[in-house]
Amino acid sequence: MLTSRKIRATKVNIVYLTTEAVPFAKTGGLADVCGTLPSRVAALGHRAAIIMPAFRSVYQSHAGVEPTDISFAIPMSPRKLVGCRLLRGRLPSAHHVPVWFIDQPQYFDRDSLYGTATGDYPDNAERFAFFCRAAIQAMQRIGWNFDIVHCNDWQTGPIPSLLAADRDLSPALENHATFMTVHNLAYQGNFAKSAFEWLGLDWSHFNQNEFEFYDRVNFLKAGIAAADTITTVSPRYAKEIQTAEHGCGLEAVLENVADRVSGITNGIDQSIWNPETDTKLVANYDVKTWQEGKLANKKALQQQFGLEQSDDVPMIGLVGRLAEQKGWDLILPVLHWHLRENRPTQWIVLGSGDAHYERQLRELNEAHPNRFALHVGFNDMLAHRIEAGSDIFLMPSHYEPCGLNQLYSIRYGTVPIVTPTGGLADTVTDCDEQSLANRTATGFHLHTVTAQGLDDAIGRALYLRYHQPRLWAQIIDTGMCQDWSWKKSAMEYESLYAKTLALKSAAKRTE
Ligand code: ADP
Repeated sequence: MLTSRKIRATKVNIVYLTTEAVPFAKTGGLADVCGTLPSRVAALGHRAAIIMPAFRSVYQSHAGVEPTDISFAIPMSPRKLVGCRLLRGRLPSAHHVPVWFIDQPQYFDRDSLYGTATGDYPDNAERFAFFCRAAIQAMQRIGWNFDIVHCNDWQTGPIPSLLAADRDLSPALENHATFMTVHNLAYQGNFAKSAFEWLGLDWSHFNQNEFEFYDRVNFLKAGIAAADTITTVSPRYAKEIQTAEHGCGLEAVLENVADRVSGITNGIDQSIWNPETDTKLVANYDVKTWQEGKLANKKALQQQFGLEQSDDVPMIGLVGRLAEQKGWDLILPVLHWHLRENRPTQWIVLGSGDAHYERQLRELNEAHPNRFALHVGFNDMLAHRIEAGSDIFLMPSHYEPCGLNQLYSIRYGTVPIVTPTGGLADTVTDCDEQSLANRTATGFHLHTVTAQGLDDAIGRALYLRYHQPRLWAQIIDTGMCQDWSWKKSAMEYESLYAKTLALKSAAKRTE
């Protein structure tokens, strides 16, 4: 086994394949991770690059993206040759990390990344099969020798198999190992069998051990089955996905490769999410000044949204996708009870997604505009301001691979109330007698995953806030002093990269 010191002496080249990375394209936490992890790994002495599609938002990011003279074409079918060119930019927060974009306007220059409010784009299998195949071409033309090919989520799932099946790989990829990181197992890229054609592979790869899943083609399954190492974004979720409850049908596939599966908890990018320096806030603050700082941010939200002006009323915040996963079936009744019964709370919600949740939220907002603020859409500035101005942040997710918003809440002195699942259980310590006594409490867990359970957890939090303000402040202080930076997680990835390469070369020697 290699030690961490030996690993660092061995500099490795890593390419991150992803569809999202801040500040170029974002719909969720994948973008936060892929916009930061490469720079933190590079800071440990390695060489990191990113390859992603040139979505419309890439052009709109104004982050200095330039054309290159590298272009090529992929035969998507016998009669369809699709050309593309490479663009090049850099991570604004880490100029030494190049970002290569696959520019193919028909596939990627669209209003959104994956679909519209009415559903996914019907050609997603074709679009992302193209991205995988083009990314493999790009890796060979960039002029680096890649040791680690790090794939992220279903959109890049076919890459490990495509690489293994390719008999003409250039020396740039001769000794590579593959990583497949699952940021959310529920999204698998599960398509009709005919979509397999877009991958340009022989039909012999359409089998139970590779792409075939109940007579359909499953991009993520193929990635899990073929990658040298599989990771997910928290240790608890890594275990949960091997059970029927959270395995989304892939539990047996994951169990088969259990010795290659592990979890590394995400960090947060402190250059973006830090209440001391966050330029999106109306007032900055730290662990000593949060009382005044958070109040100033709360007042600004009250003013902006026409909420009742009150220093004391607790503000309950939520930011997230309007998707079943996030527990809106629990949140909506509780929100309704609080508003209807005129309980002393104020609510603010930022989200976009499923139309039926949006409609219910709009109805409640129209009925109670001075107690419930709503913004439907994606708004980064408001996400930061809600984290800073709220007293309590709700995340009653039914499952949560890691979750970033609860980490931002902890960092911003906003007490999270969470379901004890996946990364939420790994990162938020429930407040009870013992955790208060040993000063480890950072939030509240739902004791039953029901609307009543959520309301009870809010009740416990509010009781403490009103009746034991010192202990409430202790919870906030404990959280704000924790270190959730990427450094520790980056070092864990570094160890796993080295371990995977060592195992791979040992296996090669015995071949
Ligand atoms: P997931 O990846 O499942 O959506 P995470 O909590 O891991 O959930 O990450 C969500 C990320 O997306 C956070 O950075 C959060 O602030 C951001 N986000 C989610 N919805 C919105 C929105 N409507 N506006 C702005 N940011 C959002």
